[in-house]
Amino acid sequence: MTTYRICLLPGDGIGPEITAEAVKVLGIIGERFGATFEFSEALLGGAAIDATGTALPDDTLEAAHAADAVLLAAIGGPRWDTTDPEKPRPEQGLLGIRKALGLYANLRPVKIFDALKDASSLKPEYLEGVDMLIVRELTGGLYFGARARETGVPGAATGGGPGMRAYDTLDYREFEIERIARTAFEAARTRRGRVHSVDKANVLESSRLWREVVHRLHAAEFSDVELVDQLVDNSAMQLIRTPAQFDVMVTENMFGDILSDEASMLTGSLGMLASASLGDGTALYEPSHGSAPDIAGRGIANPLAMLLSVELMLRYSFSMHDAADALASAIEGVLAGGWRTRDIADATTLPQKTVGTTAMGDLVVERLRA
Ligand code: NAD
Repeated sequence: MTTYRICLLPGDGIGPEITAEAVKVLGIIGERFGATFEFSEALLGGAAIDATGTALPDDTLEAAHAADAVLLAAIGGPRWDTTDPEKPRPEQGLLGIRKALGLYANLRPVKIFDALKDASSLKPEYLEGVDMLIVRELTGGLYFGARARETGVPGAATGGGPGMRAYDTLDYREFEIERIARTAFEAARTRRGRVHSVDKANVLESSRLWREVVHRLHAAEFSDVELVDQLVDNSAMQLIRTPAQFDVMVTENMFGDILSDEASMLTGSLGMLASASLGDGTALYEPSHGSAPDIAGRGIANPLAMLLSVELMLRYSFSMHDAADALASAIEGVLAGGWRTRDIADATTLPQKTVGTTAMGDLVVERLRA
């Protein structure tokens, strides 16, 4: 029997609640598909700041490197929100671990579950055929470029006197663009063969380099894939207007951050979206939503994005495709049976079928056992 080591990073807010469901589901998957999952658990984000003063303790990095895959729930919360640049912030843990593991590609599938068509804010007819993969560059761009705050800058204050100035830099190197474009083209080859490359080449120099490199790679190695350039403001609109036009969308870090949250609303809830972050070593899997501090500790969080992250882990890190398919269809079956957590419930949901986090996990386990 193969043993896989999984490093759990429950993080903050609803993180521990949804992590428990993932562990429960992996238990039955191990039984059914003949694998053993060994878990280690480490601190990240706010919980790590409270315990150690830093959002990404060395022990956590060690545990992540030692594992075959990392399963992260969510980090952050108002308790650790600060504008003081000297103070640690939970996001440093997230950005730091992505960087340390060299996770440059973030893959976010956006698929509509038939049973949830009505949960979307779009009319069902717009959702026909929506099945896309957002490939977001994850270790470069605006979130990692040089940044600073300066004081005493002439003309910076209201009234024209000396004041503060702050800047962030959108910085990309050729190799960073090329490897993320390659991930996108390769993914498109296994799907419907179309890549939308999203940039802001009419304004940004970094986008002009992005476009150049994407086209060069396309011409040299991927001319069988259809390539469409799209400006990011247009993409934001097209995602709502005709989302089914997209197969694979590839874009830089911040554009991808924003567009993938927008795309998540096509599915009706952030609680339904998973992501895989891949690099050259240990991969990391996490739901796309945050730590939902507004509902933390109440047992009502939707664990399905976390379970869909487990599905991606089974596929990409362990090549357990049968188990991944079984998990996907168990989730689909539960939804088709009318079961909902509060965030995906609507006027047609029967009150007795509106369930909490643990019950939703149990329903998935029950289907996996069947
Ligand atoms: P959020 O995703 O945490 O919550 C947005 C809304 O969606 C909230 O109303 C929340 O209750 C709901 N929601 C999210 N996940 C849900 C789930 N699984 N089940 C049911 N409802 C769910 O985003 P936010 O409120 O902007 O951020 C809260 C905190 O999370 C912040 O500190 C932010 O920095 C952090 N954050 C972390 C990550 C991450 O860990 N990857 C991502 C985004 C935000």
